[in-house]
Amino acid sequence: MARVNENFLKLRGDYLFSEIARRRTKYQENHPDAKVISLGIGDVTRPLPQAAVDGLKRAADEMADVRTFRGYGEYQGYRFLAEKILEFEFAPRGVSLDVDEVFISEGAKTDTACFQELFDIDNVVAVLDPVYPVYVDSNVMAGRSGQATEGGHYSGIVYMPCTEENGFMPELPSEKVDLIYLCYPNNPTGATISHSELKKWVDYARQNQAIILYDAAYVAFIQDEDIPHSIYEIEGADEVAVEFRSFSKRAGFTGTRCAFAIVPKKVKAYASDGSEHSLNSLWLRRQATKFNGVSYPIQVAAAATYSSEGREQVKELIDYYMTNASIIVEGLTSAGLTVYGGTNSPYVWVKVPEGMTSWGFFDYLLDKARVVCTPGAGFGASGEGFVRLTAFGSREDTEEAVSRICSCL
Ligand SMILES: *Cc1c(COP(=O)(O)O)cnc(C)c1O
Repeated sequence: MARVNENFLKLRGDYLFSEIARRRTKYQENHPDAKVISLGIGDVTRPLPQAAVDGLKRAADEMADVRTFRGYGEYQGYRFLAEKILEFEFAPRGVSLDVDEVFISEGAKTDTACFQELFDIDNVVAVLDPVYPVYVDSNVMAGRSGQATEGGHYSGIVYMPCTEENGFMPELPSEKVDLIYLCYPNNPTGATISHSELKKWVDYARQNQAIILYDAAYVAFIQDEDIPHSIYEIEGADEVAVEFRSFSKRAGFTGTRCAFAIVPKKVKAYASDGSEHSLNSLWLRRQATKFNGVSYPIQVAAAATYSSEGREQVKELIDYYMTNASIIVEGLTSAGLTVYGGTNSPYVWVKVPEGMTSWGFFDYLLDKARVVCTPGAGFGASGEGFVRLTAFGSREDTEEAVSRICSCL
């Protein structure tokens, strides 16, 4: 008799986005002529940079010619891409890494979900609250939690509240934790982290032999040069941290698929006999067994985003979305709302008016402004009292949505 992995049965349904879709559909059925604008889902809308498209086409032609055809690539990805990543993402920030510390993949979702496989089931996992659900659900599936509790949290997982009171900067956990997921710039709050705050986490990890899983999917949106762009800007982080990046938000690759993980060779975890093991070797072993690499044309396209035209086009893309973010921030602020984020991230975290809940304000905006947002409570208990708006819409939709929100308040 085939039995299921009962950890999957602990998972709560994918309530958030299906509930949003349900309410939107219902509204649309009752108001067939209403033009609803979504600033809800965290997906990009602008086309790929031309340099990436040209790279894809060039690589497709190479695949059509017996002299340049390529079969399986390397498990870790092509060197030509890893070298560009190091040259343009890390060297300018004073971070020096080896090409074999870069692991090209098809997505940061996959990487952040799968990396926990390297760790024992008894590790204690800590996450920010509100949180990108992938970190939690992947650990629940693996069996690193108990059941879901009434408030929506899973027992056995340590949630670190990010609230207005603490400036969305969580305290260090009071109990000892082993695996710490951090995400900066943050989805959903749009918060960024300073060098001194990030150093606290690196110091904690070093003192407690913990590992930080650092999701920097939104680093390209940072406008302020003083904000750390990589956890490796912090001394000692290359002994305790793995960093996840993606081309999805930076270069519009959500449907094209390319990302990378940085696993420094110095990062170690421990076996029960006290021996030390390099996560870089373990992750290479894992990838070699379960992954056959990202397709060659996609890696060429990703590398092309670092050509001089590519970088110029990526900058235009980021500027486009960040202008949307400032339109949202300025519009909502002038309408009397309190907003966070949106200055170094494409997410604006909006405090709901006095006396309303996240879902109450969601319904209000849908009904009165025909705008879809994401209720903060859907990302965790500490997200209650907020909604998330994204800057990933078109300029026209963003302006229209902001003007409608302002006139209905
Ligand atoms: C969008 C996003 C990613 C990127 O996922 P991909 O699989 O690379 O598209 C990773 N982490 C967070 C927090 C995100 O919001």
